[in-house]
Amino acid sequence: MISRLGLQRSSLTDFPGVLACVLFTVGCDFRCPWCHNPELVEPGAGDPGLVPVGEALGFLDERKRVLSGAVLSGGEPCLHPDLPRLADAVRRRGLKVKLDTNGSFPDALAEVRADYVAIDVKARAADYPRLAPLVPDAAARVARSLAWLRSSGAPFEVRVTAAPGFVDPDTAASLADFLEAGDEVVLQRFRPLRTLDPAWRSVEPHGDAALAEILAALKARSPKARHRGG
Ligand code: SF4
Repeated sequence: MISRLGLQRSSLTDFPGVLACVLFTVGCDFRCPWCHNPELVEPGAGDPGLVPVGEALGFLDERKRVLSGAVLSGGEPCLHPDLPRLADAVRRRGLKVKLDTNGSFPDALAEVRADYVAIDVKARAADYPRLAPLVPDAAARVARSLAWLRSSGAPFEVRVTAAPGFVDPDTAASLADFLEAGDEVVLQRFRPLRTLDPAWRSVEPHGDAALAEILAALKARSPKARHRGG
């Protein structure tokens, strides 16, 4: 049961073309060491600054004439069986719904009925057990989510974070096995800011040359792949 949420009051960058707020749910089935929201993933990792769901929905009531959408993010929002109810509550206020997901809950996608989905592909299939030791079929679940999104007709983007040791020039072609030609793929640089594993705060991000090699490998499979950010 979702009882409390993190709330970012507005964002121009999280939902393409939409002024949106961001609602963060707590908890995740993955343990990506570079995760930038450790306070939402690991109990005791910091104060996530949550508010009661009623307060978050009250904020939507106040701001629904200014905002055009809400992003459901986390953590992993699809971990919560009542996420579709939260999505419905957003829609009832006339707002569009965007979902951020790690892709490990393919059956939830149809229930949430998001207007836009950002789904992560985090590594080649062989490396998913290192990211999600408690989800033995994580890679297969991500592949099922991608297949559902392609068949649904809903707009979506595939996010790839160039996390060293998981997304590298020599493994990017294998990671691209998850992709298809029509996919909108966005490659973003790993940034050693707040990370779930403190050791990752000193991990050196890939340089421009390595990033270009990774992007080329993704483009070989998905020609629309592009780099976002610096
Ligand atoms: S990056 Fe996303 S999927 Fe990975 S641990 Fe953090 S919230 Fe979970």
